Amino acid sequence: MTGKQRNIWSAGLLACALLIGTALWAYDYTRRDLMAERRVAGQAQLALYGELLRGWLGKYRALPSIYAHEPDVVALLDAPEDSRRVEAVNARLERWNATSGASDTYILDAQGKAIAASNWNSGASFLGKSYAFRPYFRQAMQGRLGRTFALGTVSGLRGYYFAYPVQSDGRIRGAVVVKVGVGEIEQELRLDMGAVFVSDRDGVVVLAGPPHWRMKTLQPLSEDARRRVERERLFPIEVLRPLPVQGIERDSGNSVVSAQPDRSEQREADFLHLSAPMKTEDWRVHLLVETRGVAKRSLMAALLASLVILTLLLLGLLLWQRRRRMIGRLTAQEENRRELERLVTERTANLREANENLEQEVRERSQAEVDLRRTQSELIQAGKLAALGQMSAALSHEFNQPLAAIRTYSDNATAFLDRGRGAEATENLARISRLTERMARLSKHLTSFARKPGDTVEPVPLDAVIAETLALLNARIEGAGAYIDNRLPSDIIVMGGQTRLQHVFMNLIGNALDATAQEAQPVIILRADSDGPALSVIVEDNGPGVPPEVQANIFDPFFSTKEPGKGLGLGLSISFNIVRDFDGHLQVENRQEGGARFIVTLILADAGREAAE
Ligand code: ADP
Repeated sequence: MTGKQRNIWSAGLLACALLIGTALWAYDYTRRDLMAERRVAGQAQLALYGELLRGWLGKYRALPSIYAHEPDVVALLDAPEDSRRVEAVNARLERWNATSGASDTYILDAQGKAIAASNWNSGASFLGKSYAFRPYFRQAMQGRLGRTFALGTVSGLRGYYFAYPVQSDGRIRGAVVVKVGVGEIEQELRLDMGAVFVSDRDGVVVLAGPPHWRMKTLQPLSEDARRRVERERLFPIEVLRPLPVQGIERDSGNSVVSAQPDRSEQREADFLHLSAPMKTEDWRVHLLVETRGVAKRSLMAALLASLVILTLLLLGLLLWQRRRRMIGRLTAQEENRRELERLVTERTANLREANENLEQEVRERSQAEVDLRRTQSELIQAGKLAALGQMSAALSHEFNQPLAAIRTYSDNATAFLDRGRGAEATENLARISRLTERMARLSKHLTSFARKPGDTVEPVPLDAVIAETLALLNARIEGAGAYIDNRLPSDIIVMGGQTRLQHVFMNLIGNALDATAQEAQPVIILRADSDGPALSVIVEDNGPGVPPEVQANIFDPFFSTKEPGKGLGLGLSISFNIVRDFDGHLQVENRQEGGARFIVTLILADAGREAAE
């Protein structure tokens, strides 16, 4: 189990404990509260019942003492054998009894025998019966009010007996007894809910609202009590059964007991047991207060409290979950942010590395370009030297021919001078001078051609370039018997470098001369074709043209179809790069009528300036 799971379990247990605890507390609290309420009400009710009982007994208590002072009664006890008196007293007792509402009223002589009775006329009359065993008789005979609760030996009915001594000449002659029936009072003790009952000092229920509780005992009788009850014949011992009330205490009363006071009820219920003493009778009045609603209402309170706690717990859970989700979201966001930062850092590092690599590459490329340019310019030089080499025969002819002419003219001049023909000599010298001029011009062209190219791009007059080129190639052209058809306009200025452009056209025209070597009449056409800011200088020949497989490689370095020693295969490759350096391009195609066409596209100087502006 992980720590998190353990936490969830603990929280769950805590919540359960809280729920159960609250329910129990609410139940107990409500129950106590309601019980206290019932107790207060019950105690008031109990006091009322006490008063009722006291009033009931009080109503009869004084009667025997009043009757005992009646002269007839005293006279009867003085002469108990006088039957007339007996009859008269019987009649009076009957009347008194009916008036007072007592059960029976009778007179006992000093031996405890009934000598007159209100029920003289009934079959179950007390007359002649001895009640000497009754405590009330003994008490009366001792000169005080006798009082006893007992089951009538003749009637079998419960009753409360008051007895009072009848005195004459300072002696106690007998007693007047009033027996009070319990039917009426017990009727008053009947309750719809709960129960009222009265126990005597031995714990015998002498009066009870519920009929089946009468003459039951709160606890088993002690041996003494048992003997006394038997002796005084208060009740037959065998009728005394335990009171069917669970958990009842005899003397105190503040407990919850379970009983079934109303037999029509299906089962026992819980009652609050309250009791209060009735001192004069040595009795105790008991009240069972009904508690049915208590359990129900306590349960409701417990439920309500549980519901509140459950709601709070659920609310708490909800808040907790929401908080957890929020924390989760924040954590995820934080993680995303960190991941993003990490990625950014990583990408930045990668980019930096890539950048460094690029810079390195740029540096390397720049270096390579520098190297290339150097190599290229070296190659141009080499190419030029190669061209010069190729031209050497023609050049030597170019120089030899004027030299031979100079020699002839100088010889002629010498001869003319010898002969004194100054004018002819001067004419020859002038020719020599023109020839040296021509040689000087050729030499100048050669020098400029041999010069190392610059690397700037500037406006260059195209006709100057072409003129220079043709001058250098003149010997070869003438040697080949080729016809140069120069249709180029004279006022074109292009962007480039004089020497490098010259080199391009040297190559193109030189190649054309090579290609047309076999032709009967080699023709090389130079023309221009302008297209907006660009100008194409076209060099065409009437040679065999360029086969497709050659076209594919024609601008590659060291590609040559010429026999070894004749071609290096660098001319077009270098020319291609030179033209590209001028932001132009070099293309090849075949003419429809046969022969090759090389197109050098350059930028017009005006356009270049305009674009620059
Ligand atoms: P090289 O002239 O030293 O061979 P180039 O680069 O100048 O080197 O030319 C490469 C090849 O292109 C030549 O060998 C030739 O085969 C071909 N070529 C060049 N110009 C022409 C042309 N005008 N007509 C036919 N073929 C040509």
